[in-house]
Amino acid sequence: MNLKGKCALVTGAARGIGRAIALALAAEGVNVAVADIGGKGKHAPDYELAKQDELATTAQMVAQHGVKSAAIRADVTDFTQVTSMIEQTIKEVGGLHILVNNAGIIVAAPVLALDESQWDAVLNVNLKGVFLCCKAVAAHLIDQKLGRIINIASIAGKRGHAGISAYSASKAGVISLTQSLAEELGPFNVTVNSICPGFVDTTMWSGCLSPGLSALLGVELEQAFDENVKRNTPLGRAQTPEDVGEGVVFLCKADNITGIALNIAGGAEMI
Ligand code: NAP
Repeated sequence: MNLKGKCALVTGAARGIGRAIALALAAEGVNVAVADIGGKGKHAPDYELAKQDELATTAQMVAQHGVKSAAIRADVTDFTQVTSMIEQTIKEVGGLHILVNNAGIIVAAPVLALDESQWDAVLNVNLKGVFLCCKAVAAHLIDQKLGRIINIASIAGKRGHAGISAYSASKAGVISLTQSLAEELGPFNVTVNSICPGFVDTTMWSGCLSPGLSALLGVELEQAFDENVKRNTPLGRAQTPEDVGEGVVFLCKADNITGIALNIAGGAEMI
């Protein structure tokens, strides 16, 4: 697919990998709506304001590429918000050809210590959120007879790991959902793929994974991420948000790739 002038929606795009995906698409001449959660008193007011700023900043960075941009507050677990996010995207950036389901959360705890509410929260955002966004956009892409859906899964979805069971299960679900959708939407010229990043140094690590890993690996908190990369990545280096953006652009351009789960993991996972 020729990307210039096409329109995309990226969820969870206030920062981290989502922001880099939005910018990679914008650099290809794609108009991009960026969406992220916020408001409704879920977090402290200063966090909410910071999130609004981050989302607005992503939209401004997108616009600097000379394409249309829009910043949309939406919770991917709420179907009403999801449908209005899709409608707003079409209205504000002029269409919708590419959906990138990037929003995600993680909880780190062994199964015995994991609350039912934590399990539900992770599965709700990471798996049900992807389902709802795909469901809301599918009719539009089918009518258009052209589209790309890219779901950001994880190498943790290819093999479960101790301490992140809900996250691993949710991402395995995303890979499977991607395959089902690839079969259902393929006849309408809509490709559906997932990307499995390995280790990308975002708030998902600093805010959740690194503290547990530092104890497990016996290193200082500041060294936990790098030590994990060193021990588990054949290429010996972390992946960047931009690496994932590059993968999204590749899958958007590809006309004959559907149903795959592309590792961007420096060899940390090979199947
Ligand atoms: P991040 O910096 O935490 O970004 C995720 C964004 O999604 C945050 O802004 C988050 O907002 C937002 N979000 C959470 N729940 C949402 C909801 N219900 N509706 C809309 N937005 C929501 O993490 P990241 O590392 O960039 O992760 C992006 C994606 O890559 C995730 O799907 C993650 O699982 C995947 N991934 C990351 C890595 C890695 O090493 N970082 C590896 C493999 C896969 P709040 O934080 O304010 O809730």
